[in-house]
Amino acid sequence: MQFTPDYYFVPHNEEEVVEILNRHSEDQIRAVGSLHSWSDLASSDKIVINLSHFDDINIEKQDDKTWVTVGAGCKIKDLNRELYQQQGLRLPAQPIISAPTIGGAIATGTHGTGSPSLSHFVEKVRIAAYDQDTGTAKIYEIESGSELEAARCNLGCMGIVLSLRISCISEFLVEETVVERQHLQEVLAEKEDYPLQEFLYIPYSWTFVNFQRREVAENASVDSGKRSWGASLYNVYNFLNVDLFFCLIVKGLISFWGNPERIRFFYKNMFSKAILKKVTVRERSHQLLTRTREMFSHEETEIFIPENYIAEAAELIRIVTDVFAGIKKEIPEEFSSKLESVGLLEQLKKSRGTYTHHHPFVFLKLLPDDTLISMSSGMDKPCYGFNLISYQKPGEREAFRKFSDVTTCALARLYNARPHWGKYFCLDQDDIEALYPELETFREICRRYDSKGVFQNNFTRQVLGFERER
Ligand SMILES: Cc1cc2nc3c(=O)[nH]c(=O)nc-3n(C[C@H](O)[C@H](O)[C@H](O)COP(=O)(O)OP(=O)(O)OC[C@H]3O[C@@H](n4cnc5c(N)ncnc54)[C@H](O)[C@@H]3O)c2cc1C
Repeated sequence: MQFTPDYYFVPHNEEEVVEILNRHSEDQIRAVGSLHSWSDLASSDKIVINLSHFDDINIEKQDDKTWVTVGAGCKIKDLNRELYQQQGLRLPAQPIISAPTIGGAIATGTHGTGSPSLSHFVEKVRIAAYDQDTGTAKIYEIESGSELEAARCNLGCMGIVLSLRISCISEFLVEETVVERQHLQEVLAEKEDYPLQEFLYIPYSWTFVNFQRREVAENASVDSGKRSWGASLYNVYNFLNVDLFFCLIVKGLISFWGNPERIRFFYKNMFSKAILKKVTVRERSHQLLTRTREMFSHEETEIFIPENYIAEAAELIRIVTDVFAGIKKEIPEEFSSKLESVGLLEQLKKSRGTYTHHHPFVFLKLLPDDTLISMSSGMDKPCYGFNLISYQKPGEREAFRKFSDVTTCALARLYNARPHWGKYFCLDQDDIEALYPELETFREICRRYDSKGVFQNNFTRQVLGFERER
């Protein structure tokens, strides 16, 4: 995402934000966080407001409950550090990377594994927006009803979020063991025992690597309740082997010494051998559940597949991947008729042999959210975030994007899977209307705070169906 706004403001306090809003009430304004979204959600050619000076952290306790009120521009990593060091606390959802701001993460329904998204846990939102009657800017506090559900995952459309009150939990130990599995059924059979599990679906070998993870009760008098003595070593191993060495291999496979055959050979014969398996480690959750994914430029698409469709969706993903790689001659009748019914069969056939995917598919578990339009809003069962990742250079991702487009459209239209708002995004308004039953309520609430559509950009107008009313 690249854009050049006419004005870029970095206000120091709420009065300055209100003043900017009043001065530009006929313009287009977007707030930005760390600009870690791949979709065009944050872009604006007119006015951009960066909330980086809004980074105060206030922790409050009442009985056995704890909350943090945090400035929207505070980075998740700074908040995590403060929560842990001050009170042994953590956020109730832990995204894999912690560079995004809390305002940006909330706006897009950012999530980790084994819990609802961060948005779900927001209890109060302080936001600068426009008065419906007078059109002048003012500050609102939203803390209940459908307005809170809208503000929890707001896509930047309700106004400039200044601060958020979020419930917190005590930091805990996570026990992790990595195992290889031949079939998805085996991985899913382990989900009750390992509620924090994450798994990889390995292209071309079509086996699974399951990160069996669960919370363990901390108890200094027994070994099974203590942080493992080798935990620090394990963190170093993860950094060197997973974040660095594996990425270098992938970069090599897609550039100087790679070709489609070598990519397939690597995943069929080598990938799972290079992973440390059957070693059990206990480590603090904020350490074990986060990764340094930013060392190499990459792009992600994430699609949230409802749990009841996961087995069929995994088979479809395998078929689409093999057809794109040119190694599947026939598409099974059951899937060709389904793909035809949603208008994708011809597109898939034309794509045969155009792209060999070069990264394992990553699956994370997301529990239902109490929001209007986050990816697991209104669901009654968990869904799985299915991640497509490309390490190609920015100008060379066209084939990856076509692969993402077909996969996302097929999963959305056949299994009601919703794409992540902050990642590479290809669906149009028709698909989105079908996926989000509460979208009209969301639009109506946004208009209450912004009757002129000042907080809209091209992305939100095209994808969410906002009409600019001027
Ligand atoms: C390497 C990498 C790893 C990632 N890992 C994960 C992951 O594990 N889980 C996950 O769910 N996502 C993940 N993401 C996606 C990322 O968390 C989201 O896109 C998130 O929104 C980025 O936050 P940001 O601060 O960069 O926001 P930006 O990208 O700057 O903005 C995102 C949206 O938030 C709005 N916004 C930002 N601040 C405010 C504010 N104060 N008021 C109103 N609106 C605001 C913007 O207008 C925009 O619409 C990852 C992204 C990257 C690059």
